[in-house]
Amino acid sequence: MNRFTQYVQELFKWNEEMKHFLELENVRDNLELWEELDQLTELIESTGQSLSDEDMLYLQTKAENIHEQMESYFNRKREAGTIWIAEKTVSPGGHTLPDLPYAYNALEPYISEEIMRLHHDKHHRSYVDGLNKAELNLKKARQNNDYSLIKHWSRELAFHGSGHYLHTIFWQNMIPKGGGTPQGQLKGAIENYFGSFNQFKKQFSEAAKQVEGVGWALLVWAPRARHLEILQSERHMLLTQWDTIPLLVLDVWEHAYYLQYKNNRASYVDNWWNIVNWNDVEMRFDKAAEIKWPAF
Ligand code: MN
Repeated sequence: MNRFTQYVQELFKWNEEMKHFLELENVRDNLELWEELDQLTELIESTGQSLSDEDMLYLQTKAENIHEQMESYFNRKREAGTIWIAEKTVSPGGHTLPDLPYAYNALEPYISEEIMRLHHDKHHRSYVDGLNKAELNLKKARQNNDYSLIKHWSRELAFHGSGHYLHTIFWQNMIPKGGGTPQGQLKGAIENYFGSFNQFKKQFSEAAKQVEGVGWALLVWAPRARHLEILQSERHMLLTQWDTIPLLVLDVWEHAYYLQYKNNRASYVDNWWNIVNWNDVEMRFDKAAEIKWPAF
């Protein structure tokens, strides 16, 4: 590969990274910048193997121009904080069932289409409905200043809220043709705390296999201690270590595997590693690690 081709490939990679970054930032309104990035993609894709000096010069100018715009974006962001980025907020009772990021049969043979349909469309949906109901009833309680049922609705809020949030993470934590090992900052953090990826995997698997009854295994980031941890959760919310941010979660409720694996949860857990979406977990980790609290 000559150095020009290499340059173009690196340029293409950088271009894609910038687009991905803007997506994560929820930047939708800076159309000019989006167009520039798209133009560069088209330009790079249309150039063949051999590039004339003129082509190269043109690409370079274009890239420098976009680079400058990105710099000014970063500077404006630093000045304004992140407040100007419009984040979607969910009002009481306004939760919706997220679409699966892949087809119902996409995780086969590790998780069957039948399970995915039931799990997403029936079980997850009932958590969304239950959470909305709890939020609306707590809103009513605030309006009427009547908290006689707060224990009930708080329990419902924790149960259905954890159910909704954890399943939302769970779907994103998986991907067809996933597996392998994590890269980036997360790789170092895992090796640092657990000794090695295999030791982490062993502990996470054992935690999942030995959850008492139904529940979850979770890899979490503890912002206060600034290290990773593996937790077990009985049902959705018992034994949960609050003040942590779930990064990688595994559903070990029977409805997640029973139709396919019967009582062999261990085999489901072992197979599940083939569909882990590490890119998603890395992204969650990078975001979560930005949070810094005083250590005690
Ligand atoms: Mn589930």
